[in-house]
Amino acid sequence: MIHFLVACWSCISEHLYKHGRSQSGEPPYRCQDCHCCFQLNCRYEANKVGILEKIIA
Ligand SMILES: [Zn+2]
Repeated sequence: MIHFLVACWSCISEHLYKHGRSQSGEPPYRCQDCHCCFQLNCRYEANKVGILEKIIA
């Protein structure tokens, strides 16, 4: 089972809230602690490769 942890890339806080809607359909998230804004889809694509490789190995 692969568990995706949604956390701020800047301060690793899990206190996030969805912030509107972007053009791609993926809602951007904003961190309640450091107030930085980011999208999850690009992070997931980047992390999938590393996660799958670790499980296979
Ligand atoms: Zn943060």
